[in-house]
Amino acid sequence: MAVFSEEIVEWLEQSEQQVEGRFREIDRIVDINQWKVIEAFQRHQVSDFHFAGSTGYAYNDRGREVLDLVYADVFGAEAALVRPHFASGTHTIATALFGVLRPGDELMYITGRPYDTLHKVIGKPGDGSGSLQDYGITYSESALLEDGTVDWETVKSKINDKTKVIGIQRSRGYDWRDSYTVDQIGEMVQKVKALKPDIIVFVDNCYGEFTEEHEPTEVGADLIAGSLIKNPGGGLAETGGYICGKADLVTLASYRLTAPGIGGEVGAMLGTTRGIYQGLFMAPTIVGQAVRGSVLAAALFERAGFQSRPGWKAKRTDLIQAIQFSGPEQLIAFVQGMQRAAAVDGHVVPEPWDMPGYEHPVIMAAGTFIQGGSLELSADAPIRAPYIAYMQGGLTYSHVKFGLLTALQTMKDRNLL
Ligand SMILES: *Cc1c(COP(=O)(O)O)cnc(C)c1O
Repeated sequence: MAVFSEEIVEWLEQSEQQVEGRFREIDRIVDINQWKVIEAFQRHQVSDFHFAGSTGYAYNDRGREVLDLVYADVFGAEAALVRPHFASGTHTIATALFGVLRPGDELMYITGRPYDTLHKVIGKPGDGSGSLQDYGITYSESALLEDGTVDWETVKSKINDKTKVIGIQRSRGYDWRDSYTVDQIGEMVQKVKALKPDIIVFVDNCYGEFTEEHEPTEVGADLIAGSLIKNPGGGLAETGGYICGKADLVTLASYRLTAPGIGGEVGAMLGTTRGIYQGLFMAPTIVGQAVRGSVLAAALFERAGFQSRPGWKAKRTDLIQAIQFSGPEQLIAFVQGMQRAAAVDGHVVPEPWDMPGYEHPVIMAAGTFIQGGSLELSADAPIRAPYIAYMQGGLTYSHVKFGLLTALQTMKDRNLL
């Protein structure tokens, strides 16, 4: 075992004892979701021939068709579109939004400023980029209240005849707020529909999948989207995204992904199908490992004197663990220290850089089998006050543990603890 200071090892032992009860709760959710996935596979009689993949137009690719059915079942949705052709979570979300919004419609986010990479998808009127606003789809947003809850007064005052889609972001993203549980999302859906019954509620479900017993589509969300290199890909899906929800809305999104009238009926899976199925099978367990890792991180860093959010006791609804540091040196030491536990690229030292789509320099620790695969252990931090690192993922709990240890040790070695 690598050499860690006595103090750090002691913190670890105490923290692991402290979170034992939380681990049992996490395991219960793993079991529920594992069986949910198995039942969906069984209901649609998944067999090895479904994994064959396809080429060309790929009409009647039964593996692809059944994959959509399985996802729809698992998410309690009418329909699903699960494809390797989605290049990222942002692309998937953009496809869903462009699919259902038309010029003159309005999109309104009620959970404050959305995730950084969506800012350019929303864009500005006349920006010439083909963003939503460039296409004449207007945008409004309701900032969160001080306590991180939805400001219903503002939502009420801003909702209007043109408001067609309400956006909810489940996960905190790069914000120091709490993520929204599925129950909370269910309440939001009810309130929004009471204000305007025909509104489409869209949920950015990135990082949330399988952290709870239910998904937003089971509590009234009309359309949700996420990335296959996050939770539902189980660390095995090599690329892709999914959209689930009301059948007519999923069809519209599929028209946007390929072409109107063609939708999900074409699209060669090439060799990706088996990884996507097997990843979904693995996802509940891997997500459980990652959530265990996040809970340990919260407990361990609280013990080391830092503020973590969520705290170790809090109910989880995503993988993200935020830890606040006192300045850029600590932040950078933490991220560089995490990298030291990586099996892949463990020899590299991450540095802050101006990543496309982000508005501040970002430093990222990631040693992953799938490039950028954020169900694998990674940590990222925009270099901006109040110096918060966001860590997530981990295919095995043990790996997360070592990441935390090497991070603490690196900080200690640099006299930053
Ligand atoms: C990751 C993420 C996205 C965007 O996904 P990319 O794959 O990075 O494009 C959007 N929203 C949230 C909440 C995310 O966590």
